[in-house]
Amino acid sequence: MQITYYGTSASEAWPALFCSCRACELARKYGGKNIRTRCQALVDTSLLIDFPPDTNYHAQQYHLNLQAVKTLLITHSHHDHFFPQDICMRTSNFAEGTEGSKLFVYGNDTIEKGFREAASIHSNIDDFIVFHRLEPFDTIRTEEGYEVTALLADHNQPEKSFLYIIKKDNKQMLYAHDTGIFPECTWDRLEGKRFDFVSLDCTALSRDWRRGHMGFAAVDEVRDRMEEMGCIDSKTIIALSHFAHWADFTHDKICEEENPKGYQVAYDGCRYEF
Ligand SMILES: [Zn+2]
Ligand SMILES: [Zn+2]
Ligand SMILES: [Zn+2]
Repeated sequence: MQITYYGTSASEAWPALFCSCRACELARKYGGKNIRTRCQALVDTSLLIDFPPDTNYHAQQYHLNLQAVKTLLITHSHHDHFFPQDICMRTSNFAEGTEGSKLFVYGNDTIEKGFREAASIHSNIDDFIVFHRLEPFDTIRTEEGYEVTALLADHNQPEKSFLYIIKKDNKQMLYAHDTGIFPECTWDRLEGKRFDFVSLDCTALSRDWRRGHMGFAAVDEVRDRMEEMGCIDSKTIIALSHFAHWADFTHDKICEEENPKGYQVAYDGCRYEF
């Protein structure tokens, strides 16, 4: 299994729209891995997680092949994860070569409402996109053989925001954005599972956030509990992502803080194999 991160920022991107804070100025100055777009990741070649407004840029800049995507998992309705108008570009009028193949989109009831609204202006959307509503803790199997389980995140309540467990060929990963320290009902579902790869929300960096999003301290707490439960071990890759501009952080400075603790620091375009 492999995962490619196309976007690794929080909702405002980094450098952020309209922002002249120190972290944004440093990102503009140094460029490269300091330039972060909105959250999106691809598992292997056909399972895409989230669809931010930067999706088209990811396709143009990083050669994200959207035609190869068969399954789209949406975590929640915040605009940096879900831009339904662009998903609905996958129709005969705008997307040649997609005829006869359907994209399967999964998300909660809020996502379903947003998708149906965006789809309502397209007469033949059902020939191109199939929406599947998920409830917390539902497990589905995709046509390409991925077993996907939706877990409840601590984020944007009362919306049922999801974390996803993705499993195929004896490999298993946990994708946990956006979320605070997991709710107890989600910890219960992690019991007895072992992950080869874990992606954790680290929006707040050095700030001590525990609800809604996490910072360094909360990430450590989640890792420690997962370790105690046997969900992760020394072979598990743990990557941090969904970073927000803060203080004088740069990519290198985040790495200086977190690499010694064993974390990978995701950046736009990075890929992990496991
Ligand atoms: Zn977000
Ligand atoms: Zn800023
Ligand atoms: Zn969010």
